[in-house]
Amino acid sequence: MTTINTESQDTFGEITETWNPVIGCNHQCTYCWAVRLARRLASMGVEPYLSNVFRPTFLPQRLNKRFRRGSTVFVCDMGDLFGEWVPEEWIRNIVDVVRVQPYVRFMFLTKNPSRYLQFEKEFPMNVVLAATIESNRDYGLSRAPKPSERLEAMKEIKHPYKGVVIEPIIDFDDYFVQSLIDIRPIFVYVGYDNYGHKLPEPPLSKTMILVKTLRKFTEVRIGTLRMAWYEQKRGF
Ligand code: SF4
Repeated sequence: MTTINTESQDTFGEITETWNPVIGCNHQCTYCWAVRLARRLASMGVEPYLSNVFRPTFLPQRLNKRFRRGSTVFVCDMGDLFGEWVPEEWIRNIVDVVRVQPYVRFMFLTKNPSRYLQFEKEFPMNVVLAATIESNRDYGLSRAPKPSERLEAMKEIKHPYKGVVIEPIIDFDDYFVQSLIDIRPIFVYVGYDNYGHKLPEPPLSKTMILVKTLRKFTEVRIGTLRMAWYEQKRGF
């Protein structure tokens, strides 16, 4: 879970709630925890997963939700609201709900940040536009836009509140570090895979250098920080 701070306009604090007026995703990341959770909930008979599992689905009955003043809400952690397949109308309905609650901070998170550009003039200032970008390298772990395309899209976005989630972290090149700096995010979240997927992870020492470098430019939040799985195996 990402921990973003809400204490000022430039920082975001702890996520206090999640809100899923849209569920489901077609990116098919090999390490997706949300699809596994959706399947488990479906097998337990829990709606809306029983009816839809992980098929992209709009749940308009959830648009009536109002949040406590000072909350920080993660929007759609059970899918990707900005996937290419999502109709504009679903997104606009959600942005309208966000706009009328200026005393609440909302975080959008996508693997398709170029779609943010389509709505950029409509986002209110209580929104952080975040993207998951695990690396600059494309290891074919997902059908989402390539990491390099996500980096470029995030650089283009002019909204002042942007974030990057590097989780699960994948091995990267120097270009990744410079691109993250160029995005000018208000936070970067860094974490290793939590579910034993044996991804092509960077060694811990390399990640620590990344964290140290980024801390000179932005707020860095840390998730699971550990040796890469192959380092553990070798007993480093
Ligand atoms: S983008 Fe997120 S929700 Fe979609 S498949 Fe990948 S990990 Fe799962």
